[in-house]
Amino acid sequence: MREQKNAPALPSPAGGGGEMPPSENPGCPFCRSKDTEVISLFGSQVMTMQCKCRACGNFFEASKY
Ligand SMILES: [Zn+2]
Repeated sequence: MREQKNAPALPSPAGGGGEMPPSENPGCPFCRSKDTEVISLFGSQVMTMQCKCRACGNFFEASKY
């Protein structure tokens, strides 16, 4: 009688819904306006994204986390 090995548990996929954009726009660090738009989801670093403030016209990078 051979000892039966347990089947390895499959790693459960985390989320599985793909990447979701942040629901809330980051506030402008210059004028604190929430009227900002995301230019690019990737800034100079992976965890930052490029945004532009419509109120004052400045570009800034916001952290996604
Ligand atoms: Zn601004």
